[in-house]
Amino acid sequence: MSQPSTPLHSVKDDRDDLVFLDEQTAAQPGEACGAVWRVMIVDDDEDVHSTTTFALGNLDMQQRPLEFVHAYSAAQAREMLRHEADIAVILLDVVMEQDDAGLHLVRYIRETLKLHDVRIILRTGQPGYAPEIDAIRDFDINDYKTKSELTRIKLYTTVTAAIRSYEQIRAINSSRRGLDQIVRASTELMSLHGVKNFASGVLTQVADILGTDENGVLCAHEPADVRAQHLPVMACAGAFCRLGGGVLTPQVDPRASEAIGRALSQRTSIFTPESATLYFGGKASRDFAAFVPLARPLDDIEKRLLEVFCSNVSVGLVNVELVSHLHNAAFYDQLSKLPNRTRLVEILDATLAGPARESATLALVDLDHFAETNDALGHQFGDLLLVAVAARLQARLGRNLTIARIGGDIFSVLGDSSAVNPDNILALFQTPFSIDGQDVRVSATLGLVRLAEHDGTGADALKDADIALKRAKVQQRSGHFFFSRSMGVEIRERVRMMHALRTGFASGELSVVYQPQVDLAERRPVGAEALLRWQAGNGDFISPTRFIPIAEYSGLIIEIGEFVLRAACAELVRLRAAGHLDFTVSVNVSQVQFRHPGFLAMLRAALQDTGAPARYIELEITESMAMEEPGLLIEMLAEVKRTGVSIAIDDFGTGFSSLSYLQRLQIDRLKIDRAFVTEITGSARGSSIAEMVIQLGRNLGLSVVAEGVEDERQAHILHALGCPMAQGFLFARPMSPPALYDWLRREGQALRA
Ligand code: C2E
Ligand code: CA
Ligand code: CA
Repeated sequence: MSQPSTPLHSVKDDRDDLVFLDEQTAAQPGEACGAVWRVMIVDDDEDVHSTTTFALGNLDMQQRPLEFVHAYSAAQAREMLRHEADIAVILLDVVMEQDDAGLHLVRYIRETLKLHDVRIILRTGQPGYAPEIDAIRDFDINDYKTKSELTRIKLYTTVTAAIRSYEQIRAINSSRRGLDQIVRASTELMSLHGVKNFASGVLTQVADILGTDENGVLCAHEPADVRAQHLPVMACAGAFCRLGGGVLTPQVDPRASEAIGRALSQRTSIFTPESATLYFGGKASRDFAAFVPLARPLDDIEKRLLEVFCSNVSVGLVNVELVSHLHNAAFYDQLSKLPNRTRLVEILDATLAGPARESATLALVDLDHFAETNDALGHQFGDLLLVAVAARLQARLGRNLTIARIGGDIFSVLGDSSAVNPDNILALFQTPFSIDGQDVRVSATLGLVRLAEHDGTGADALKDADIALKRAKVQQRSGHFFFSRSMGVEIRERVRMMHALRTGFASGELSVVYQPQVDLAERRPVGAEALLRWQAGNGDFISPTRFIPIAEYSGLIIEIGEFVLRAACAELVRLRAAGHLDFTVSVNVSQVQFRHPGFLAMLRAALQDTGAPARYIELEITESMAMEEPGLLIEMLAEVKRTGVSIAIDDFGTGFSSLSYLQRLQIDRLKIDRAFVTEITGSARGSSIAEMVIQLGRNLGLSVVAEGVEDERQAHILHALGCPMAQGFLFARPMSPPALYDWLRREGQALRA
């Protein structure tokens, strides 16, 4: 409303020949040179339109000509203003359709159309119609003049002042918008992960700030190659797209290369009319610079905005680099540079959520005997081997598949089932790996899971693959195993049972029963086998064939096995006290127990603590167990024999022990497996295997006991074949100690009778 500080240094009042001394002004941001100032004349008097145009028409203001827009009523002006953009000044008649039509229009412009930048000069024919001072302030009216006041010069100065004011408002608003944009741009950039994303985000945001299409190239600069001509390209767009992934050299693009080189060495942004080269100072690590071609020169405001943007982005880049570094450490294996387990789980989650799930397979690749290789040849060699395996997997499979290293010597391959299958992967281990000039052969075992058949998270899928891998390893080396749904159910059931067994054992639900063994010739009791019983909380008996494997798997067998052995020793002592002196108690020992380093000490302690005579205790080990790790077993059995305890091979006939090996084991007795006893009467082959075992026992000087004897015919044939002892339901079921004592008493009476 008040006269703005005059924009004119001098006005030569010559009515028709006005000369203005211009001052330096910056071009309007975002507006091309050669633009105009648009002035709207709103007046119902046609003469006012023509005199105004005539008075101002051929004059420039602030280096631009004026362009007039005419409205002859307030209504028409409203209509036009809804569509007209960039009106700088409105010369508005107060009195038109109504006495205050002009004032209503002002309210409409400011409040309804929300046009706050446009400057408004009110004109009125009659002095009496001056608007209220409040209206002038409230509606941001620049000036109020009676028409008679407005001589040509007055009109000129008034409009010029208004245009100047409009220009300043626009400049302020534009830099405020620019700053808003920078804040928004930075926020958006911060949400991008990875340096590459961040870098291409920078190009996007620069284009946004300049209101142009994305164009340009952003390079990194390592301190090592100061003034290096090779600048790694971090991001590129528009005309520079072809540079993706490469390096910027003078040969590739001399202009961009030179500009970026200069910005990096001078550590400053450089603007020319054709290009902006923006410098982003990294911290100690790296600097970045972007070269952006321009369609038009930038004005000062834009340059300043970009500088602010650059310093903001620099901070961001440093952070992103730090975050990337941390990300890298958290999600990638430092040795092989492959994604690690955490990252694989993320990728699995994403795959499970997408369409690829239907055809994807996850394979775990476990290197066989890696621990031995590592121990034998050293960790450095082991590391080299792992790197070589990683490289081969990556080179041969990596293109469309995800290769990860998820543990010491376990890699994973994820991708389409057509590629991720045992044949393809195991084929990679056919040729040796060259480590330190040596050829090293490595075989692998695979555990696989088809994601289509899997319902669960990525972590669950990995667990399933791991279960399959364990199964593959148990079955045979250099093999593979596919996870199946039933395995999952089985595993869950096993886990449930494992917990129940642990608590059941602690609360005394486990007990030991005894099944007598008899001398076939005299039908006299000579011993008993100790067998575990578990009566769960709900009263159900759970078969040892179900819970023993779980006890073994969980390691619980160590404690449970000790419990059985001690119970058996204690029972032996009581049996002897009751007069059963020539009576042996056999105890089943599982492989896991036997391999435990504390086994011998436990055995000696149990004998000592209970006072059980070792020669009446027998340990039963299975034939399958006897076949594994012969060296270790021979040594262990020798130690066991030194305690005085004797040894039986359980389930004999099911394996393929060699004669000479059996001799070296120093065993005392063979137990003919129940299946061969059943065969005696049940199959056409008759007694062939039982007969062979009995023969073998005789040749080796070993005692033989047939188990699972259920009827007299079997007992008779076994006796006829020369089998000295038997065990089975024909004689007695496994019994609790009180029942055993009863039975022994009855048998003794029967014998005496
Ligand atoms: P095993 O060592 O071969 O034990 C003999 C199994 O045959 C016992 O089953 C016994 O009840 C059963 N049996 C005995 N006579 C007959 C018969 O005439 N007919 C039939 N059909 N079966 C007969 P149980 O008690 O269910 O034990 C099964 C397996 O569990 C045992 O096989 C043994 O491998 C394991 N086991 C039992 N107790 C222990 C233990 O304390 N420690 C370890 N490590 N394993 C045990
Ligand atoms: Ca047994
Ligand atoms: Ca057996």
